[in-house]
Amino acid sequence: MAAKENSDNLDVVISGASFAGLALACGLAQALGDQFKIALIDRGAGPGASAARDSRASALSAASKRMLDVLGAWPLIAAEAQPVARIEITDSSLDAGVRPVLLTYDNVVENGEPATYIVPNGVLQDALCAVASRTPSIRWISSAEARDFSSNETETRVRLADGTELGASLLVAAEGRRSRLREAAGIKVVGWSYPQIGIVTTVRHERPHEARAVQHFLPSGPFAVLPLKGDRACITWTEDAQEARRILALDDADFLAEVEQRFGGKLGAIALDGPRQSWPLETHLARRYVAPRFALVGDAAHGVHPLAGQGLNLAFRDVAALIEVVSEAVRLGFEPGDTQALERYERWRRFDSVVSATTFDGLNRLFASDLTLLRSAREFGLGVVDRIPALKRFFVGEAAGVTGELPRLLRGEAV
Ligand SMILES: Cc1cc2nc3c(=O)[nH]c(=O)nc-3n(C[C@H](O)[C@H](O)[C@H](O)COP(=O)(O)OP(=O)(O)OC[C@H]3O[C@@H](n4cnc5c(N)ncnc54)[C@H](O)[C@@H]3O)c2cc1C
Repeated sequence: MAAKENSDNLDVVISGASFAGLALACGLAQALGDQFKIALIDRGAGPGASAARDSRASALSAASKRMLDVLGAWPLIAAEAQPVARIEITDSSLDAGVRPVLLTYDNVVENGEPATYIVPNGVLQDALCAVASRTPSIRWISSAEARDFSSNETETRVRLADGTELGASLLVAAEGRRSRLREAAGIKVVGWSYPQIGIVTTVRHERPHEARAVQHFLPSGPFAVLPLKGDRACITWTEDAQEARRILALDDADFLAEVEQRFGGKLGAIALDGPRQSWPLETHLARRYVAPRFALVGDAAHGVHPLAGQGLNLAFRDVAALIEVVSEAVRLGFEPGDTQALERYERWRRFDSVVSATTFDGLNRLFASDLTLLRSAREFGLGVVDRIPALKRFFVGEAAGVTGELPRLLRGEAV
């Protein structure tokens, strides 16, 4: 490994210790060993501090699961991970008496592996925190906000809100949508927000879900029922912003009545089993993913509409690709912040994120329309997919994240 020339003896500083930052720290530490020093900073109070407040569950692809397995996090997650065996897509107005199923498919890839697992976000973050905490080369710096940075020939220096400075070969912003370091790097963002709000809650239901996930497209946005362990489901519900604010202000009984109206009666009676939370929805793409000695990963690089449940999976793709290019550079005797390695990372990841963001945006617009012509077109389109097994396999492969040029971690191989 090249000698460290920076003053703090650090190889990488990662700002943001949520899903992307944690997975990146664990993967780099595993690939490059104890000599490779990593600082992981977050403005939160400590490892996993934000997990308890996040009531979302994420649809993790088979590829993401493979990476978590290699990192040693999956054994801590497995008991709470609900494989999705079948997906049903329905499309009707809120008051429709019958909900025709437009598309249904077995959600497995060729070797019988589930294409998707539903994992509570708190469980995922706790598992990654546990792996990071037992890794000696990762130094946690909690309650610390990164403010800006500057890079020169030998190092990059990041300044924290309390005036502390840290030097390293490479600085990575895994800071989510509003990344301060992205701004400090002068990287512009293109994007738009939706007149929609994402509502999330958990329900318990009378009858077993049989590992079936449902995406019910309503005119105001998709209402997803994601199966959880035990007879429970996480609801991820996109609603017109004004209507969402009204619904979120209701008491529990009235809120449940709104959920019931959309949930349908297939699983029997339902009861609330967790808090309700909400998120503003937007799509954004950073114009560059790298600058000298600097890289963006996860939502700091791109934010997508949650209707396809892919934001976190895209973040893990970034993480796996960055771990691979940095590890290869270091093994060849280059620095972690090597310019060519970072440019390779950007080429690898940016195109894929642009395609994903625009596809999910288009799907949201297509399904949010109640125009008769568009309605018929999408029903025809889904009908075609439903009848052609090869097309279904293509869509399942995309959801499983096993298509395209996959980094090794997403193929389940150590780097
Ligand atoms: C309603 C909803 C449902 C979703 N469902 C799914 C799904 O089913 N599947 C899926 O794949 N994706 C899903 N997503 C997307 C997914 O949640 C995000 O893509 C993911 O959280 C991004 O993780 P991240 O680590 O990049 O950023 P974040 O989780 O946003 O974390 C950023 C971290 O950086 C820290 N931070 C920020 N700025 C600083 C700073 N200056 N200094 C220090 N620390 C800082 C923050 O404290 C935080 O810990 C969903 C999103 C929404 C809104």
